[in-house]
Amino acid sequence: MTIPSDPAQEEKPAYEQPPEAVQEAPRAEVPGPQGKPRYYYPNKIGRAYLLALEEVMGRRGLTAVLNLAGLHHWIEAYPPNNLDREVLFDDFAALNQALDDMYGPRGGRGLAIRAARAAFSIAYEDFSAVAGVAGAAFKLLPLNIRLKIGLPGMARVFTQFSDQISWVKEEEDRFVYGIDRCPVCWGRKADRPICHAAVGLLREGIVWATGREYRVEEFECVAMGHPSCKFAIYKEPLG
Ligand SMILES: [Zn+2]
Repeated sequence: MTIPSDPAQEEKPAYEQPPEAVQEAPRAEVPGPQGKPRYYYPNKIGRAYLLALEEVMGRRGLTAVLNLAGLHHWIEAYPPNNLDREVLFDDFAALNQALDDMYGPRGGRGLAIRAARAAFSIAYEDFSAVAGVAGAAFKLLPLNIRLKIGLPGMARVFTQFSDQISWVKEEEDRFVYGIDRCPVCWGRKADRPICHAAVGLLREGIVWATGREYRVEEFECVAMGHPSCKFAIYKEPLG
């Protein structure tokens, strides 16, 4: 027996409806292998991550990683400094996979976190107004309020300017930052959380919003079979 479809259920949830800013950026609608959808980061974020990796491991180190990942197009030229969505999630995931393959899980994790933090600093200025954390008045707010505003602000930036869907939920002693479509572990499989670049971005974003370091831990990961990548941010600052 077929159940008649409920039109209300066919409506997409709010987070799947593209915000206005999204429509300004050109999008390639070419499906991937087996007709799977393709998703993109804006060039600016991919470029910032590559520049930061180059800073952390040197040009030769990065070239070796890009070779291993099969990302030859980035050896010659990094993505341009604009918001066009042209950095494939598949490529971003391959880059992060190659870091782990080349330097081992621990070494790859350290490099990805350092580079993501540096990348955040490179790209931050362009997004701070959207995130709602720009201006002197924000800095006068109490720490917990800055965290409460800053985390959803970051989620909004990624949801608006990329195909990554991010959200934030507040719990008693922590915030949970969720990523439903994650470019770091896109198409990857693992027995532990592997989205280290996302941890680095979050850690640095929180420093820019609050001026303090907070503990950030990924506790669920799409690569492990979970529906979302989930990160815990504990409310008590470190140190
Ligand atoms: Zn992930």
